[in-house]
Amino acid sequence: MGGLYHGKILLHWCDTCHAPVMADRCACGSETRAVPVTPPGDARPAFPDDISFINNLFLDRFGITLIPDGWIALINNVPDKDRMEEIVVGGAVVGAVRYLPETGRWDALPRPEAALIQRPEKRYVIVDDGAVPSIRDGASLLAPGFVSCDPDIVSGDEVFMLTRSGECAGVGRMKVDASEAATMERGQIVRSRKNIRSQFTPGPASWDEVVTANKDVLIRLESATRQFIAEHIGPYEHLPISISYSGGKDSLASLLVVMNTYKKLPILFIDTGMEFPSTYENVRQVTERYDLECIMVDSMGEFWREFEIQGPPAVDCRWCCKTAKLEPLRIFIEVTWNECVSFVGQRKYESASRARNPRVWRNAFVRNQICLAPIHSWTAMHVWLYIFREKAPYNDMYRHGVDRMGCYMCPASDMAILERIKQHVPDLWKEWEERMEAWRIKHDLPESWMAEGTWRVRNDRSQEEPESFARHDAQTGRGRRSGRSS
Ligand SMILES: [Zn+2]
Repeated sequence: MGGLYHGKILLHWCDTCHAPVMADRCACGSETRAVPVTPPGDARPAFPDDISFINNLFLDRFGITLIPDGWIALINNVPDKDRMEEIVVGGAVVGAVRYLPETGRWDALPRPEAALIQRPEKRYVIVDDGAVPSIRDGASLLAPGFVSCDPDIVSGDEVFMLTRSGECAGVGRMKVDASEAATMERGQIVRSRKNIRSQFTPGPASWDEVVTANKDVLIRLESATRQFIAEHIGPYEHLPISISYSGGKDSLASLLVVMNTYKKLPILFIDTGMEFPSTYENVRQVTERYDLECIMVDSMGEFWREFEIQGPPAVDCRWCCKTAKLEPLRIFIEVTWNECVSFVGQRKYESASRARNPRVWRNAFVRNQICLAPIHSWTAMHVWLYIFREKAPYNDMYRHGVDRMGCYMCPASDMAILERIKQHVPDLWKEWEERMEAWRIKHDLPESWMAEGTWRVRNDRSQEEPESFARHDAQTGRGRRSGRSS
C-alpha cells in the first residue's frame, strides 16, 4: 500500500530523551529512529483533553490507561470515513481511536504495544502457547488455541490476545461472545488485526525537553526561512506587507518565524463572523504580546445573508470561503492598498492540493494579494515545537481536541470534531442549530439532514455543470454582492 503522502514522514524518536525528534539525530547526540505512523503522518502533540479522553476510553474498554502521567504522547490523524487518530507513546503506535458517526460513539483500537504499558484487565483472551507463533505472524485465533477470556466480551469487541504469562501475542476483533467461545471446538474466535510493529521505549519527558531535543531542527527552520524570504521578497518589498492571521497554529508559527528572521509586521485578520470566541481572544493576546498592529477585515455579516439564499455551505459547495473571506479581503485590499503582499501559514502536509501549491502565488480569487508561505515544508510537529519554544499564546480550542481553526461550523470538519466543538462552544452551536432547523423546515428536509450531518455534502448532481460551474458560481456571487452594495 502506497498510502497518502504529502511529503516525507519526518517523525523520529529519541530513546534517550523519550522525545519525538524531527530529524535522524537528536540534539543530545543520540541517533533517532523513525516512528511508523500511517501517512500522511502529520502528527501533533496530544493535549490534556486528548489525553484524558483517550485514557478514559481505554480504561473503560480494556482497564488500562494508554498515556502514563508525564509521558509524551502524539496524535496522528489517519484517513478514515470520519475520524481516526493514531496514538504514539514511547515512540510506538500503541493504539487508535475511531469515531463511528452512525452511533456517535468512539471505538478504541489497541495495538499489541499497548499491553507493554499496562496489562489489560478487560477484553482480553488467553491463548495457548502453541497458537502464539502463528498469531504473532498475523493468523486469527481458532478454537483449539483458546484457553479463556474476560467473560463480559461480546462478539464484535476489540480484544487483546495474551499468553498465559501475560505477554501480548496480538490484537483483533472477537467473532463470538465469551460464553460461546468457551464451548467451541472449531472455528474462528478472534480475527487478528495486522499492524506494523513499532519499537516501544518507556519513559517520561516534558515538552520543554522535547523542544530542547529539537533545538537544532528549529534553528535550521529559521535559517531556511531567512533564506526563503531573502530570495523572494525583493520584487514585492515596496508593497504593504502583512501576516495573514487566522488564529490558528500555522499562522501563529508563520508570524513568529517571520518576526524572528525578517521583521515585525502587522497582522491581517479576516473576521468571517463565524469564528470561535477563543480566536478573537487569541488575536487580542497575540497583538498585545508582540505589540503588533491588527488590520481587521470585517465580512459584515455576509455569511448569514448568503445562508438565507443558499442554505449552509457544503464540502462540495463551499460558497462560504469566497463570500465571507476572499471577497471581503479582495475588496479591502483594493480600497486600502490596491495591492499587497502577505505571509500565509500554508503547509504542504495539510493536503494534496497544498502540497502541489507553490510557495509564492496569487490567490485565484484575490489577485491583488501576493502570498508567501514561509512554513510550507513544516509539519504540524515543527509548528508546535516552534510555538512551544517561543512560549507563544495559542488558540485555546487546540486544548480541547479541535485541531482545525477557522469557521466553527466548517462543513469540511469531521462529525467527531463538530461534536467536540458542540461541547466546547454550546451557545454558538445552539445558534447554528436554530438557523439550520429553520432552513430544514422551510425546505422540508429530513431530520437526519442535521442529526447525521448530511448537510455537509450536497451531492446535488442535478445542478452540476462540470465545465462552467466554477465560473458561473463566481459570477453570480459577485453580481449579488455588487447588487446589494449599490
Ligand atoms: Zn535525545
